[in-house]
Amino acid sequence: MPTPAVHEAPARRWVEWALSRIAADYTRSADTHLIPVSLPALPGVALYLKDESSHPTGSLKHRLARSLFLYGLCNGWIERGTTIVEASSGSTAVSEAYFARMLGLPFIAVVPHSTAAEKIEAIERLGGTCRKVADPGAVYAEAERIAAAHGGHYMDQFTFAERATDWRGNNNIAESIFAQMAHEPCPIPAWIVCGAGTGGTSATLGRFVRYHRHATQICLADPVGSVFHRHWHDRAVTTFAGTRSLIEGIGRPRVEPSFLPPVIDRVEVVADAASIGAARVLSHVLGRRVGGSTGTNLVAMARLATAMAQAGERGAIVSILCDSGERYASTYFNADWLAAQAIDTADDEARMTHFLATGHYAEV
Ligand SMILES: *Cc1c(COP(=O)(O)O)cnc(C)c1O
Repeated sequence: MPTPAVHEAPARRWVEWALSRIAADYTRSADTHLIPVSLPALPGVALYLKDESSHPTGSLKHRLARSLFLYGLCNGWIERGTTIVEASSGSTAVSEAYFARMLGLPFIAVVPHSTAAEKIEAIERLGGTCRKVADPGAVYAEAERIAAAHGGHYMDQFTFAERATDWRGNNNIAESIFAQMAHEPCPIPAWIVCGAGTGGTSATLGRFVRYHRHATQICLADPVGSVFHRHWHDRAVTTFAGTRSLIEGIGRPRVEPSFLPPVIDRVEVVADAASIGAARVLSHVLGRRVGGSTGTNLVAMARLATAMAQAGERGAIVSILCDSGERYASTYFNADWLAAQAIDTADDEARMTHFLATGHYAEV
């Protein structure tokens, strides 16, 4: 092998060190669990949740952060001492702060004012700094400005999520789900349900099932206050100026560059109260709290399961437990907060409880 030019070697050696640190972290981690959700009333329909809360940083953004760091390092965008900047509603910043600290890099997150206090604390505990902006739509420009001012690197999850992930395999979330389904009664899921924040997860799942020629269909579970389902129905719609969703992590006001509508087969639109009610019921069933976007997913699963049972179809529905509800103790699990948002989840909790007991999700 030729010896690298002397002036290049130290920078390359730091990148090699950084890549080996990320590889070592990955080797220390186990895969996330695929949890069956009991639905005794429908023996032909099996529900599963891929538990992404068990990553070291507590959400599916751990995978994204690892991919974005690897992409930035291998592209030559991240070097020794590079300040890492991100626009994030919280979870991505928590995971990126973890990797930045591992590599000894400064990390700045630009977050909307509404971000849960628990997430801000998590970012700061990992050595990151938070800059709050009042207008959620202003996070991108502010992150870009801060990165430029520090000579740093704007990670830009919303642009790079879909391309930083190795969608054909290499242990992405889709490959892991299909491997873990291998010995189930219906190993090829009829449906995989997911939400969209960056759109990266739905892009990876959709590409993977096409590439491997699986019959699995992808269902997007999207909040009422999100542009994604509107854009899916009509590609001319690229922004939504109405009331923002309260569900953190999903449902954006603008179509993000990583969102890939053609790989989505169906969309289910879910009201915030239904998402939060479902998250609260599932938390009770599992004996531990799940986040709001997991509730959104569960509502879409319940609708699909009800339709499959009515059509006499058998099959599996897989979705994602995106993050733990411990991050939302002051919001979705706080009665005063819910009242202040004029959210009453009683009817939606009853509806989800009824579904889990009877296999029938009754729409209002
Ligand atoms: C980011 C996020 C999602 C959506 O994942 P994307 O791959 O960004 O579309 C869902 N739930 C939570 C809690 C998230 O943080």
